[in-house]
Amino acid sequence: FAGLPAPGAVGVPRLSFEFFPPRTAPVEAQAWAAIQRLAPLAPHFVSVTYGAGGSVQDRTHRMVARILRETTLTPAAHLTCVGASRGAVDDIARRYWDAGVRHIVALRGDPPPGERFSVHPDGYRDAADLVAGLRRIASFEISVAAYPEVHPEAASPDADLDNLRRKLDAGASRAITQLFFDTDIYLRFIDRCHAKGITAPVVPGIMPISNFAKARRFVASCGASVPRWLDGLFEGLDTDEGSQHLVGAVVAAEQVRLLQANGVDEFHFYTLNRAEMSYAIAHLLGARPRSG
Ligand code: FAD
Repeated sequence: FAGLPAPGAVGVPRLSFEFFPPRTAPVEAQAWAAIQRLAPLAPHFVSVTYGAGGSVQDRTHRMVARILRETTLTPAAHLTCVGASRGAVDDIARRYWDAGVRHIVALRGDPPPGERFSVHPDGYRDAADLVAGLRRIASFEISVAAYPEVHPEAASPDADLDNLRRKLDAGASRAITQLFFDTDIYLRFIDRCHAKGITAPVVPGIMPISNFAKARRFVASCGASVPRWLDGLFEGLDTDEGSQHLVGAVVAAEQVRLLQANGVDEFHFYTLNRAEMSYAIAHLLGARPRSG
């Protein structure tokens, strides 16, 4: 870490942690243990992803409700508009508001695998339209998605930035990026955001890698790239879980420390429902447990 600011010297960053709704009791216990482990770091919010289909979506609602009921954390509920009418999406948003949820991560969502996105006949057109709809319902804090490596469906990098701007202009106050591994990709993206007049925080989404094969599959599905140097770092470690954890922690640590040295003071962690790596990396950034 020579040459980088000492932890804490540049102020403690603002943190958020993302979880996915568990499908089984053991995964629920693991997710819940992760939330409790990370809670003392007093994150700005903890977000819960939202999938396709009623039962998956119910799990999101249940997890958000449990966070509200059993912790002092601020939950941010992901909400997508793909495949749903405006009325159905609005009902969910109203129920969230009535339950005390004040932060929504507003997303378009993806169509089922192999299909192209099409707007539901009575639905929101895209995430910007959803943000405008949420604004009409209540004064939610709204975060949206941003793509340093460009969304796969975007007509061009510039059109993708215009789309991000539309989401912020519609009432979102922050963007969270898709995961990325090359720090330069994010920093160049931020330059392009600034050139477009985007002043809202565009928070880097960090995914510490604990299993490279799984990470690779996940990264491929979301249109991000795996740099060759990263492949090289995990080479030969397929069956060596412990070393993969250590290498993954070093990679994420270097990534966040470089970003911090470049003035980034807000980080969103894709925890994949595990606390250890996110906790350790947040610690390196200067985060410490707060009592009470
Ligand atoms: P949009 O911002 O609407 O844009 C999607 C693409 O379409 C962009 O390329 C944009 O440029 C283009 N576009 C949008 N509107 C127009 C228009 N009117 N004309 C032409 N082009 C247009 N998915 C889930 O299902 N559940 C989750 O919980 C979830 N959480 C996420 C969290 C984060 C931080 C991120 C980065 C992604 C998440 N996703 C989630 C994935 C997301 O749903 C997909 O990436 C989806 O394909 C796009 O959603 P969006 O909100 O970015 O869409």
